[in-house]
Amino acid sequence: MVDEIPFFNYQHIYKKNSNEFKKIFNELGLRGAYILQKDLLSFEKNLQKFLNVKFALGVADGTNAIINGLVACGIGFKDEVIIASHTYIATAAAIKLVGAKPVFADIGNDFLICPKSVETLITKKTKAIMPTQLNGRCCDMDKIMSIAKTNKLEVFEDSAQALGAKFKGKSAGTFGKFGTSSFYPAKLLGSFGDGGAIFTNNKKIFEKCRLYRDHGRNQDGQVVDWGTNSRLDNIQAAFLDFKLRHFLDEIKKRREIAGKYHEAFKDIEELSLPPAPSDGKHFDVYQNYELAAENRDNLRSYLFKKKIKTIIQWNGTPVHQFNKLGFKKSDNTHLVNTNLFFKKCLMLPMNTSLTDVQVQRIIDTVIKFYRKK
Ligand SMILES: *Cc1c(COP(=O)(O)O)cnc(C)c1O
Repeated sequence: MVDEIPFFNYQHIYKKNSNEFKKIFNELGLRGAYILQKDLLSFEKNLQKFLNVKFALGVADGTNAIINGLVACGIGFKDEVIIASHTYIATAAAIKLVGAKPVFADIGNDFLICPKSVETLITKKTKAIMPTQLNGRCCDMDKIMSIAKTNKLEVFEDSAQALGAKFKGKSAGTFGKFGTSSFYPAKLLGSFGDGGAIFTNNKKIFEKCRLYRDHGRNQDGQVVDWGTNSRLDNIQAAFLDFKLRHFLDEIKKRREIAGKYHEAFKDIEELSLPPAPSDGKHFDVYQNYELAAENRDNLRSYLFKKKIKTIIQWNGTPVHQFNKLGFKKSDNTHLVNTNLFFKKCLMLPMNTSLTDVQVQRIIDTVIKFYRKK
């Protein structure tokens, strides 16, 4: 009998450091420090340092981080924001919920937003490009920034999946007017519930975001603008502040696993792999290991039978294919690569609970599937 390899091991994030977490919880409980306390400020400071960004602000979750950023940048009615369709529904929903329209770009060979596709979608209404830094990898930010500059557009980043990723030494989430992160448990830096953050180098945007997250109240408690309740819990911030100290080790482990997958699979013709960890301009942090596989559904069943759990991202549906949301097929005929990709894409287990033995078993099982044909 072999053990099951789960796609993500939710118990592990607690078990790994349970004594420290108990201590933190006890200390905060005794102090009664639950909302907007020094632990949150400390985490925000450490995030700023980690990303080399002027401002980091903890908020309720990654979705609210995007909404908050869009509101602060004045995105609203009649505006269009270009995003990839290969993203979480939250990216598009945030745009919709502030009254604007999400416009979908195709993906390129790297499975990320395709700059060429972006260029063809720019209209008079376009206000911004918001790439999703997906799976722990930055898209080609030189190209995105230059398209934005030429067309006088803002750049925002949904970097929920890319905390610590870099492009030419610059951190994901720090390129445009604002970037975001999510601390959902299965994310790179996972909390024990929901959490998120906004990053910006712009003081005005930071101040607007800070007002918005706390009912429009300024530092003296006076209401000076409309806002909502979108604060990161102080307790989550304290846990995250602890986890951030060990975060580089976690990234290292993810990159090691990605390196092993890459070495093992690079000659299997039926697989298109994400770039290897040592790929020049990019520093990938591998939130996910997503590949494109011929005969995907059979591979997935085979792995399942061998007790290896995989996931098809977004449950197999890119945003533009959610028919109930009213997207017209005729508006999205250009999403050729995205449509093809979703017939083949699959995510193998990628997390810091994986043992060497488990990684090897995943590798051997994938290889066996393609060899036995
Ligand atoms: C997780 C995720 C979000 C949203 O984060 P939540 O914290 O769950 O609200 C947004 N965009 C992408 C690409 C994500 O993966």
